[in-house]
Amino acid sequence: MRIPAQPRVIIRACKDYDVETLRRIYREGMEELGLRPFGRTLVKPNLVAAGEMFPYAYTRPECGEAMLRALQDVGGGAMTELAAGERCGITVPTRLSFEQSGWEAMTSKLGVKRYYFEEESQVEIPLTHPHRLRDYLFTPEPIARADFFVNMPKFKAHPWTTVTFSMKNYIGIQDDRHRLIDHDHKLNEKIADLQFIIQPQFIAIDGITAGEGRMLTPTPFPLGLIIMGNSQVAFDAVCSAMIGLDPRTVDHIRLAEDYGFGTTDLGKIQISGDVSFEQAKAKAKGFKVGLIRVEKYFEGTNITAYAGPPPEVEHSDYCWGGCPGAIEEAIEILRVYDKETDAKMPRMHVVFGKYDGPIAAGPGEKVVFIGDCVEWKGQLQGKLVQIQSKYKDRSTLDPHTAKHDDIFKKLGTTSAKAAVSKSASHIRLEGCPVSVAEQVLTLVAVGGLKNPYMDPKQVSHFTRSYLGWRSRVALNLLQRKRYQENGTFAHRGQAAPELALR
Ligand code: SF4
Repeated sequence: MRIPAQPRVIIRACKDYDVETLRRIYREGMEELGLRPFGRTLVKPNLVAAGEMFPYAYTRPECGEAMLRALQDVGGGAMTELAAGERCGITVPTRLSFEQSGWEAMTSKLGVKRYYFEEESQVEIPLTHPHRLRDYLFTPEPIARADFFVNMPKFKAHPWTTVTFSMKNYIGIQDDRHRLIDHDHKLNEKIADLQFIIQPQFIAIDGITAGEGRMLTPTPFPLGLIIMGNSQVAFDAVCSAMIGLDPRTVDHIRLAEDYGFGTTDLGKIQISGDVSFEQAKAKAKGFKVGLIRVEKYFEGTNITAYAGPPPEVEHSDYCWGGCPGAIEEAIEILRVYDKETDAKMPRMHVVFGKYDGPIAAGPGEKVVFIGDCVEWKGQLQGKLVQIQSKYKDRSTLDPHTAKHDDIFKKLGTTSAKAAVSKSASHIRLEGCPVSVAEQVLTLVAVGGLKNPYMDPKQVSHFTRSYLGWRSRVALNLLQRKRYQENGTFAHRGQAAPELALR
């Protein structure tokens, strides 16, 4: 693992998204850090969600263009490949996110390769450190093979992990099958384990317009900064301290430091640039992280939330990384999509974890029990209801056999479940976690709301991206089969997939 002996963070003022200004800043950043890109050079932005509903959720394409040009300026012929890759969120095809963020047009203009990670071969990476969640992880082949890796996160708050800076951007280095495993109250541990896959040589966060409060639909925060660095833990520590947060209170940062990925001690980090740390702190004053329990989040709305602890054996009183945070993101998507969402939403109740208190559901008010671990016993509409946990210990989940959850299948099953339970007092949603996409679809079905996944303006783009993705995966399977039969593999002239170890 590449952990620099001298962690460095460079803070630069940047008031807008001018490509040439950004290009110069990145070029100077690489030169100051003594970096020269080489071999397979891969840029990983945060494109978790893009398009007009999510204007502040993603790394802007101007930053991407400036970075790719700066890498060409500095690396030149030492690079054998220059590419950008990502797996976006909410079960949307990454092709769509590239298109809607402007990264597709930008990379096409520059002639730079794109990797949609869910369409790539997945490589097994063994883990051996103590306290790991599991013995191996999967990551897309372009990540596993990158020689020079550039992490380009967006400066944002996060409802599950407090912040999403550099390390949290790694949730996009797994496809959905593997990303959702351990995406629960162990999410911070998962992010710390992902650090063992690869460490970036260069980090540059888009903090020109930062996103506060949430991660998919954050409020714009004019920070006016580009922050660069060479050490992931040190980088996140400086960003955390800038917003007044002790970095060791953010679990994934603390764990990564404990695992040896760098220091959070600001005294040991060399901070330079044309903005001092104190000036950056003043710029970030008042930045809200939005770590709010679900009961509080829905206060004053038509939804009442109840949350008990996730499974006993896991020693945690709230599932910060799973279903409760997902519904907060889900309702915000619906609010952005339709300003009348709260007014249209019928009274309903959502329950998480092992909850043993009362549920104040009046006549006709639906109760939605969410997640495999939910448990409750009591009277609803005059009848005894007993919800039992279906939680499976994480040791029983095998990433080798993890299956992809198809968005159209989710749409069908969620609508069917809501229709069947129309007159019932309650619905049970299974999964660990129940994803943001499923919770959006459930709220749509139960509340009779407009469905953003079926937006007439988006549906043809979505379907085209979806079909492109599924065709590519089918082609990959065919090529793999041919390889197994003939010993040749035509996919970019590389070795057989799903075999390589780092
Ligand atoms: S089912 Fe949901 S709330 Fe329960 S442990 Fe899994 S992610 Fe957390």
